[in-house]
Amino acid sequence: MNPVVIAVAITGSVPRKKDNPAVPITPSEQIESTHEAYEAGASLVHIHVRNDDESASSDPERFAAVQAGIVKYCPGMIVQFSTGGRGRDPGQRGSSLYLKPDMASLSTGSVNFPTIVYENHAVLVRDLAGKMCDNGIRPEIEIFDLSHLHGARRLVEAGLMDDHPHVQFVMGVENALPADEHLLDLLLGELRRILPKATWTAAGIGRFQAQVMQWALQRKADAVRTGLEDNIRVTKERLARNNAELVEIAVDMIMRHGRRVATCDEARAILSLSNKKWGAA
Ligand code: ZN
Repeated sequence: MNPVVIAVAITGSVPRKKDNPAVPITPSEQIESTHEAYEAGASLVHIHVRNDDESASSDPERFAAVQAGIVKYCPGMIVQFSTGGRGRDPGQRGSSLYLKPDMASLSTGSVNFPTIVYENHAVLVRDLAGKMCDNGIRPEIEIFDLSHLHGARRLVEAGLMDDHPHVQFVMGVENALPADEHLLDLLLGELRRILPKATWTAAGIGRFQAQVMQWALQRKADAVRTGLEDNIRVTKERLARNNAELVEIAVDMIMRHGRRVATCDEARAILSLSNKKWGAA
């Protein structure tokens, strides 16, 4: 019955209100949606912020507002900022790390996305990793390609990261890694070979969300990931009511695999955050 962390990616930079009105955009909507997800069992929230016109934002004030609301209303929940690039100026992607969220996402290489090249120059990767290191932020390494695992290992060798980072395999992004069970085994095999102490999770994008979660649970993942950033539907016909509904689906799946949902304290221990003050700013 070892516990599983549920990570909820509440907003992202692509799904819009017009696609699903439940996608939270303003800080107050984001705090409310996170609170619902927290009550449903999520112990980690992955945050992108948006401008009023719904475009991706790097505004530290917005990050600070969402962070403060989560610390207040969701005690213990792990706050993770995105440093992802879609629609953001590369120079601004680390501009909110001084706020010292518990974690931040870190992509360690470039990859093709549906309509853009998601560019992560080696200099930018090292710069973001250095800022995380300086601010005591644990990175979640985003793996869109096998070479990105080696990018992570180079950061460990450079002393910019400890040897047990949290790693997320992202599958099902058009033009990047397909959602394929065999590929997950291949990635996991390489992770265990080069970063054997790492914790891990996998995210399935769009219609692959539940399938990838199932593969991850079958392989004893430390965490699962869900949320409207990755997928806005419950079925092909029906939109998700909110982030909490997607968390409830994850809870069911975790139980069906004979495991249980991690509390926030357990999530912090699993991800080596237990000694850090809750959401300390
Ligand atoms: Zn994200």
